[in-house]
Amino acid sequence: MPAGQAYWRSLKNRLRGRLVLPSDGALYDEARGVLNARIDQRPAAIAYCANDEDVVACVRFCNATDLKAVCRCGGHGALGFSTRSDQLVIDMTALQTVGVDLREKTVTVGGGAFWGQVDLATYPRGYAAPGGGCPQVGVGGLAQGGGFGPISRSHGLTIDNLIEATLVTSRRGQLIKVSESEEPDLFWALRGGGGGNFGAVTSFTFRLHPIGHALTAGSLVYASGPDTNKWAADAKKLFQFYREWMRSPDCDSRLTLLPIVAFDDQSNPIFVLSVFFNGDWVEGYEYLFDILNNFGAPKAVNTSLGPTTLPGYTATESTTAWPGQSLYWKSGFLANDFPDAAIDTMITWFEHAPKPAQAARAASRIASRPAGAAPRAPDLSFGFIESLGGRIRDKRPDETAFYWRDQLFSFSFIGICERSDAALSRELRQWADNFRKAMEPYLTGAVYVNYMQEGLGDWKRAYYGGNVDRLCAIKQEYDPSHMFSFPQDLAQP
Ligand SMILES: Cc1cc2nc3c(=O)[nH]c(=O)nc-3n(C[C@H](O)[C@H](O)[C@H](O)COP(=O)(O)OP(=O)(O)OC[C@H]3O[C@@H](n4cnc5c(N)ncnc54)[C@H](O)[C@@H]3O)c2cc1C
Repeated sequence: MPAGQAYWRSLKNRLRGRLVLPSDGALYDEARGVLNARIDQRPAAIAYCANDEDVVACVRFCNATDLKAVCRCGGHGALGFSTRSDQLVIDMTALQTVGVDLREKTVTVGGGAFWGQVDLATYPRGYAAPGGGCPQVGVGGLAQGGGFGPISRSHGLTIDNLIEATLVTSRRGQLIKVSESEEPDLFWALRGGGGGNFGAVTSFTFRLHPIGHALTAGSLVYASGPDTNKWAADAKKLFQFYREWMRSPDCDSRLTLLPIVAFDDQSNPIFVLSVFFNGDWVEGYEYLFDILNNFGAPKAVNTSLGPTTLPGYTATESTTAWPGQSLYWKSGFLANDFPDAAIDTMITWFEHAPKPAQAARAASRIASRPAGAAPRAPDLSFGFIESLGGRIRDKRPDETAFYWRDQLFSFSFIGICERSDAALSRELRQWADNFRKAMEPYLTGAVYVNYMQEGLGDWKRAYYGGNVDRLCAIKQEYDPSHMFSFPQDLAQP
């Protein structure tokens, strides 16, 4: 690994931003981290790019010295692939400009912005682009893998609304624009090919859609304290209701339901139905309670539903409570016709999630939740199903690189604990691996590329389905030296 002072000085001299090296001690330790505290990588250096020219300088430096690189935006990648040992981390987080063009109805976003910044810039003007649910998720990763959130059933995935992007590839070593008319193959690949494969993206331009100012959103909480039997019975009915409604022909694509199974502050299991209706709030409220009644759903013990805003809703999915915690994430698309046995399996495994002892929990950092947030304790595991369908299905599987257009249910669960608790971390890992194994009969084998995970046999097929060969060829064309490298990049065997 190259390490000499003169070597790094030649990069430092070309940057406006800061270059952090292992010799920087505590600063380096902070700079090498990502959201998931389980990730422990020691990059050769971290370049905090101050502008697009810095990104170009990093890519040229890597080209000249055969150094491998990864880009970093929000640091929310499940496997932490935006920080890699012995590689250069091209940190984009200073590229945060968000420019709204109301005449063209577009928003142009720096490759280091977080999705929450996009919502905050567009929503007060009466517009939104479909993004993720969590405001701290980086645009850089989200907008290359797919992007589903509160309004994607209404307007498609984040990538479906991408009009143009600017990036630096290793082949060119300069900024290039991609769109339907410029470099269309690369533009196709960026829309679903997964973050970090093709180059360092410095900006994204998205189409905007009008959005109302008082939307029905919030959560319905179903809990039964220590009475686990009642909880399990309610949870089963709710999963059944959710499944039947999602499959029914009158399933309104303005409504997005997000069933969450979690634990409350006393470690009792709870079922939370997070709700977002992209339309008039009175209509949404009536529609929601109509379908809950029609499908015989049980009664919630607590609700925080009301007229709210898009950023107000997504703030409830904030990850500000998570840094310093170790996350072990498992995911997969549930078959659209998953049976009751899948629901029973989910509930049983979830009830048996390993938890820290109460004393350890009390001593651990309990961050305050944003107002209206689901009452999930921040240091306990949870699981959820994200709803696809609606306008996401409008495109063919090969129209963008996101192949899984026909899927309805993206199922995930995350084993969470304090990083220092090695024994619990091991236990959670075993639990999560076995839970996923138990769910396999009900999964399609496909996995959302933005929820990358270890232990998948043919991960390329799982993420990309029938688009994999075209994607690999595009990776080879635009990154022939394999500069952008991580364990599940498209050039890996
Ligand atoms: C708490 C949480 C909530 C989430 N919620 C949602 C959600 O609601 N909907 C959804 O669809 N997904 C969601 N995700 C998944 C998320 O979309 C992916 O993890 C995404 O990859 C994160 O992007 P990032 O920029 O934050 O992460 P990073 O770890 O910084 O990057 C992820 C990958 O993208 C690459 N990358 C990042 N920026 C750039 C760039 N500018 N140019 C080139 N490559 C880049 C990195 O190299 C890395 O390979 C969530 C994840 C978490 C942890």
